[in-house]
Amino acid sequence: MTTQKPSSLTAEGLRQPKAKIQTAVDAVLKAIQLCEQVQAEMVSTDAIQKADRSPVTVADFGSQALICKAISEAFPDDTIVAEESAQALQENAPLLERVTNYVNRFCEGTAATTETVCEWINNGSGEVGPSFWTLDPIDGTKGFLRRDQYAVALAYIVDGVVQLGVLGCPNLPYHLDATDSERGCLFVAIRGQGTHLYTKTGELLERVHVSEATHRFAESVESTHGDSEAHGKIANALGITEPPVQMDSQVKYGIVSRGEASLYIRLPNPAYPNYRECIWDHAAGLIVVEEAGGTVTDANGAPLNFLVGKRMHENRGIVATNGELHQHVLKALSSKL
Ligand code: AMP
Ligand code: MG
Repeated sequence: MTTQKPSSLTAEGLRQPKAKIQTAVDAVLKAIQLCEQVQAEMVSTDAIQKADRSPVTVADFGSQALICKAISEAFPDDTIVAEESAQALQENAPLLERVTNYVNRFCEGTAATTETVCEWINNGSGEVGPSFWTLDPIDGTKGFLRRDQYAVALAYIVDGVVQLGVLGCPNLPYHLDATDSERGCLFVAIRGQGTHLYTKTGELLERVHVSEATHRFAESVESTHGDSEAHGKIANALGITEPPVQMDSQVKYGIVSRGEASLYIRLPNPAYPNYRECIWDHAAGLIVVEEAGGTVTDANGAPLNFLVGKRMHENRGIVATNGELHQHVLKALSSKL
C-alpha cells in the first residue's frame, strides 16, 4: 500500500498542480458531506423536475455551489462547465432558501446570501475551451433519490485531455462484494500518476488497478440510458456469463478501475437516437479507468472528444474496459450491431 496523499501528487499537464489537486479533492469531499446530510434529512419538496423531466435536488445545487465557490476562489481565471444553473432555483424561493441553508452549513465564515449562492452555482456556466473544469455535482440523481449509488464528478481538461479526475462515490463499498464493507469512496486520478482510492474522509486506501480477468460487466440501472439487450449480446459474444452489475452514475467507471468489472458498456438506446453524452458524465470516470490501466472509447472505438461542447456530438455510446478486452468488445460491436 502506498502512502501518497493527494497533495503529494503532481501532474505535468496541470498548471499549479498541487493546488489544483488539493482544491478539487477538498471541494468534492465537502460536497459529499452536503449530499449525505441532504439525503439524511430529505423531504419530498427537495427534488424538482427539470425541463427535460430529469430530477434535480437541493443536493445537486448545494454540491455545485460548494465546488464552484472553492474553484473560483482558488483560481479566479478558471472556467467551469457544470451541469446545473441557478435559473430553476431563482423561480423557487423555498428551494433556494433550503439550498442556501445547506451551503452555509458547509462553508466557513460569514453566511452567504441566496444571491451569493446563485452566483456560485452560475460560476459553473462556462464554455468548453483550451482548459476547463467540468462538474456533475450529483451524477445519478435517480440513484441518489433511491438512496443507491451516485457520484460527485469533477475533472480538469487541458487541450481536450483529462488531466485530473476526482470521483466521489458516497455509497460505494470499499469492496463491492464484501457484505460488511464500509462505504464511501473517493477516486483521485492524475494523468501519469495512477488512480488512488481514498475514503470519503480523505484517507488513502490503495492505488487501484484494473483486473486482467474477464468476468462481469456494468451497465446503467436506467434502461433508457443504454441498450441492455445489445449489452447482453456483446457480453455473450465475449463469453461473459455473470449477470451485469447495474449501477447509477460514474461509480461504474470506479468498479472497472478496481477490477470489480471488466467492462462498462453504454450503447445508445434505440428509442433516443439523437441523445449525445454529456462531458461531465464521463470525463472524471474516463481518467479513473485510464490511470488504473484500462481503456475508454466510444462504441466505434473513437476517443471521447471533450472539445466539441457540453455534449459529445462526435461520439456514440461508451465502452470502458480493463484494456485487454477492449479490441474484443469493439470487434463484437462491429460484427453484431
Ligand atoms: P447513469 O446513472 O449511468 O444512467 O447515467 C446518468 C446520466 O445519464 C444522467 O446524468 C444523464 O445525463 C444521462 N442520460 C439521460 N438520458 C440518457 C439517454 N437517453 N441515454 C444515455 N444517457 C442518458
Ligand atoms: Mg450526470
